[in-house]
Amino acid sequence: MLFKIISFILFISVTQVFASGSNSLNISEVADGVFVHTGKHLGFEDEHNDDIANIGFIVGSACIAVIDTGGSHKIGTLLKAEIKKVSDLPICYVINTHIHYDHLLGNSAFKDTNAKFIGHIRLADEIEHNKQFFMEQYNDYIDKNDTENAIIKPEVGVETTLEIDLGGRKLLLTAHQPAHTNNDLSILDKKTNTIWLSDLLFLERIPVIDASIRGWLSLLDDLKQEEFKLAIPGHGPASAEWPGAVESQYNYLKSLHDEVQKEIDRGTFMEDIIETVLSDEKKKWLLHEENHRRNVSKTFTELEW
Ligand SMILES: [Zn+2]
Repeated sequence: MLFKIISFILFISVTQVFASGSNSLNISEVADGVFVHTGKHLGFEDEHNDDIANIGFIVGSACIAVIDTGGSHKIGTLLKAEIKKVSDLPICYVINTHIHYDHLLGNSAFKDTNAKFIGHIRLADEIEHNKQFFMEQYNDYIDKNDTENAIIKPEVGVETTLEIDLGGRKLLLTAHQPAHTNNDLSILDKKTNTIWLSDLLFLERIPVIDASIRGWLSLLDDLKQEEFKLAIPGHGPASAEWPGAVESQYNYLKSLHDEVQKEIDRGTFMEDIIETVLSDEKKKWLLHEENHRRNVSKTFTELEW
């Protein structure tokens, strides 16, 4: 009898290990009806780098909005399965926060849902522009059964703001000026006053500047004045307090901006500072090796002009 009980306990534990492994996603409910899966801190060269971003969904009384779909068809499919566990309501919107692969290659898993795909007004063009690159670079991550529709573009483009209703729950989508990318979209859940910032907010992992450090700082200056209850970052924990959560990133970007500007004013060449600028500040971040140099060069190029 004892043997049977022990075997049963072992069976349960093994089942749980597998359940929390690669065939399901950890999801937490960070506010009433707001669900987030936290991605892993892996470099772009690592295996499983299709699961590095925070993605999730918001449940209304009539339907569900998915926010970002992960870096592969597989992650999108796992997210869809997690949604089913929480609610049988239809998925009416799939919202992409920006162009980066880790937030949108899972879109293909939602093509059979009748959901409307929404993004920043510039996102559709950006996807078109990057399609070939995605197909080559992330070939293992796309849906092999339907390569024609492997990368889904938004059919609704947000130019300024757009309010959508999930039934008793309104989301305000805002298209931003160039910051992290030139197609950043944030989502405010008015019911819980939660702002889904995605990659406009990095925690733990070093921020990546793909569009404009000036634009990003100026956007953060505005956002810091807002009294959101909770913020959801694109990388890092599932949620964080606002505006406290943004301090480290703001300080990094502000110091980077000021230091590089100082060197430009002195007439320094980029090659001379790329290894030295902010060498202490960069160490506060994960994965700084592969991204800090890139941030310095991006900032230098922007400020030089
Ligand atoms: Zn990003």
